[in-house]
Amino acid sequence: MLDVRSCASLSEAAGILSGDRQARLVGGGTLVMRDVNEGRLTHGTLVRVTDPAFRQMNAGGARIELGAGVTMAMVLGNRDLAFLHPAARAIGGPAVRTMATVGGNLFAQTPYGDFTVALLALDAQVVVQAGYGAGRGVPIEEFLAARERGGQGLVTAVQFARPHNPGDFRFRKISRIRPKGISLMSIAALLQAAGGRMSQPRIAYGAMAPTPIRARGVERVLEGKSLDAGAIQAAKQAALEGCRPASDAIASEWYRREVLPVHLGRLLAGEDR
Ligand SMILES: Cc1cc2nc3c(=O)[nH]c(=O)nc-3n(C[C@H](O)[C@H](O)[C@H](O)COP(=O)(O)OP(=O)(O)OC[C@H]3O[C@@H](n4cnc5c(N)ncnc54)[C@H](O)[C@@H]3O)c2cc1C
Repeated sequence: MLDVRSCASLSEAAGILSGDRQARLVGGGTLVMRDVNEGRLTHGTLVRVTDPAFRQMNAGGARIELGAGVTMAMVLGNRDLAFLHPAARAIGGPAVRTMATVGGNLFAQTPYGDFTVALLALDAQVVVQAGYGAGRGVPIEEFLAARERGGQGLVTAVQFARPHNPGDFRFRKISRIRPKGISLMSIAALLQAAGGRMSQPRIAYGAMAPTPIRARGVERVLEGKSLDAGAIQAAKQAALEGCRPASDAIASEWYRREVLPVHLGRLLAGEDR
């Protein structure tokens, strides 16, 4: 039997999730309620959070914080987050975006998790609350590496630095059907320059490994370079380092490996498609 608990505070929800490994948080419910409706989830506790802090956005300053319950539609409605609109708009259709949360996207399995790819390129901190104590910030890479082990408690928020210029942040979702197809892959990049040369560029891929990954080879190649044709060519050559894409109903491993360098090159060159 499924039990539903509504929690007026984040601490109460975190306490339930930490004490019961079978309890599941319902964010927007686009994935978890599908499991319920299709009979894959029949036992345990579903936890809802009504605490307004869960849906709070602090997006005006240099350091941005989004509550885990913020939806893609809320991101799209906030002008301060314009640089993230392409990533939020990439999630499903309008009905899904009204429900789908930032927190839920962090748990979405490949080929979903497009927004998480954007957060990975932004090197976000994931704020996790286990039990009734205070939340702690976990680097998103560490969070994703630990995700499959489960039992992390409640994600309350994500935090990241605003890109110096909106154009420094780029996102591209590649799908066979536009505008609403499932990701063949997604790529996000933070390309900040100092004196015309790349400084600590960050590139992230979705659907090129079991969880979103950073493209360390590309980052290494671009560091200290100006983003010219030579640097882009070198980046394409390093594009597949660390990739372990799957073959699935959307694309084969071979195809993903073939097209990733092409799309990475286009993103770095600032081409629209
Ligand atoms: C038709 C359709 C199209 C979609 N298209 C896309 C797409 O293009 N790209 C994409 O990335 N995704 C897509 N999705 C998947 C999904 O809608 C999104 O990934 C969404 O962001 C998931 O968020 P949610 O709030 O609905 O998650 P939920 O279903 O509420 O939760 C998903 C999982 O995460 C856990 N969870 C959620 N929030 C928290 C939290 N704060 N703390 C701890 N655990 C939590 C839940 O317990 C559950 O296990 C699609 C889904 C559908 C149904």
